Amino acid sequence: MRALLYVAFALLAVGIACRRQTPQAQIGHADDAVIATEPAAAPFDESTAPARPAPVVAAATPSPAADARAAPAAGLLIPVRGVSAQQLRDTFTDARSSGRVHDAIDIMAAAGTPVLAVADGSVEKLFASQRGGITLYQFNPQRTHAYYYAHLQGYAPGIAEQQVLRRGQVIGYVGATGNASADAPHLHFAVFELGPERRWWEGTAINPYPLLVAPR
Ligand SMILES: [Zn+2]
Repeated sequence: MRALLYVAFALLAVGIACRRQTPQAQIGHADDAVIATEPAAAPFDESTAPARPAPVVAAATPSPAADARAAPAAGLLIPVRGVSAQQLRDTFTDARSSGRVHDAIDIMAAAGTPVLAVADGSVEKLFASQRGGITLYQFNPQRTHAYYYAHLQGYAPGIAEQQVLRRGQVIGYVGATGNASADAPHLHFAVFELGPERRWWEGTAINPYPLLVAPR
């Protein structure tokens, strides 16, 4: 009986160890089609990330559990002023350099166009990265999802980390910072389901397209 118990504990320990080793998808990237050379990596840049795990994309493989997790992110405001749902194009599964997948939507707009918070929440991180340029990570109030805005020209006046955001609030302006082409300014926008530790750089990408075009 005691031996059996030890075996059970050992199995449990192995199980925990395996779970800890499971790599999570790295977020914090913004990647566009035209990249001649990969820039030196930022700490959370995907180019330094370990081999990407098999993508666990809630939107691509719907299940009741995934739907429930995605629920807080549904019915998002289109984050670029003046852009309608009909103008959006689903670029979530587009290929990017080094065999990566876009995992985001690109919304084309003139440089300087206001970028709006897609939902209520708070500013979790203001970050500059090689690929994303000037970026903003917003968490929803439940801290289950992150909204990522990249290639910004700059932040709106007064935007700061931990600041509470209201849906529709101007957070920044469309630009072409990072690896965006200077003649094609756009907003790179992504939604991530956060891991249990609620880190802004770890999460599972969810396709923003259906969330943006959904009636609300
Ligand atoms: Zn993009």
